[in-house]
Amino acid sequence: MSLTCERCKNPGEPPSLAKVAFMGPQKARILAGICSSCWKEWEGMEVKVINEYRLNFMDPQHREVLKKACADFLGLEPAE
Ligand SMILES: [Zn+2]
Repeated sequence: MSLTCERCKNPGEPPSLAKVAFMGPQKARILAGICSSCWKEWEGMEVKVINEYRLNFMDPQHREVLKKACADFLGLEPAE
């Protein structure tokens, strides 16, 4: 399935399902509107964000921080 990426506006393929760790609407948005190369850029950024804020995936509040950083980076509307 190909898409037109909301971030880079290029046609592309969505990232693979297994790589998108977010749940709910944000995951759906990413799979429907973000190409795999933009997702790869986010994966590089994600490592930096995790290190910078010392995020812990076990902490729901930390997961929210990461989710928001991801939405900002990819230019998604804030998820409900
Ligand atoms: Zn893209």
